Amino acid sequence: MSDLFPVDTFSRLRVTFLGTGTSTGVPVIGCDCAVCRSSDPRNQRFRSSLWVQTERASILVDAGPDLRMQALRAKIKNVDAVIYTHGHMDHVVGFDELRAYCWNRDTPLPMYANQGCMDQLRTMFAWAFADTNIYRGYIKPGPVIFDGSFLLEGIQVTPLPVLHGNVETHGFLFRKNGHRSIAYISDVKRLSREAMDAIHGCDVLVVDALHHRSHPTHMNVNEALEVIEQAQPKLAYFTHCSHEIDHAQLEKILPAPVRIAYDTLTIDL
Ligand SMILES: [Zn+2]
Ligand SMILES: [Zn+2]
Ligand SMILES: [Zn+2]
Repeated sequence: MSDLFPVDTFSRLRVTFLGTGTSTGVPVIGCDCAVCRSSDPRNQRFRSSLWVQTERASILVDAGPDLRMQALRAKIKNVDAVIYTHGHMDHVVGFDELRAYCWNRDTPLPMYANQGCMDQLRTMFAWAFADTNIYRGYIKPGPVIFDGSFLLEGIQVTPLPVLHGNVETHGFLFRKNGHRSIAYISDVKRLSREAMDAIHGCDVLVVDALHHRSHPTHMNVNEALEVIEQAQPKLAYFTHCSHEIDHAQLEKILPAPVRIAYDTLTIDL
């Protein structure tokens, strides 16, 4: 992390969980389990995504298949940039919905991603990146491949490399006035040493906790609790949860600083 970044030009940092579900979303199509039939709105999870706001910026982390409904529900009028965690379908296929955020701007919409995710976007949406994409109303992506910390609309963002199957994946640490405000790691099986060091003692840590059973590419509840124990955040939230997690039941037995995020939850930092 460079100390050369200018002093932040915002005083309000707000995050809103647009979605907190795993790749299927919850309820799952065709499933009759208790969570899928639950009337608790916290058990209804769109695909995982975060909306980061300051008084001058509106930034999305990921743009998955539920983006249209998420944007309507949260009343997201404009987006200044999108940051991608990785190229899995549940995080990128809302790409074309982003055209609504291109109509009112004269420059391409900045999209920050690691090399693997950007390659994936270019393959899936080749027409959008092509020189022939000149029609008004079409999405105009402005690709930026990050390599270390970057400054985005006055916010210091540090990409956190993590292991998540064989896909190049990052979480992100957002700082306010140099302070480690919130780390968001939605898809992870194991954190790198670099990521663990970066998030230690942050105010809010959001981590992948798929369900209780073990999974090859996601942390389960116990693995997530171990990471939280090591990282010592003031407050922690689970996200990317499957239909095997009943919000009320699990939250009752979690240790004090750990909660389960739910769709529409907003945190002011
Ligand atoms: Zn995912
Ligand atoms: Zn179910
Ligand atoms: Zn994934």
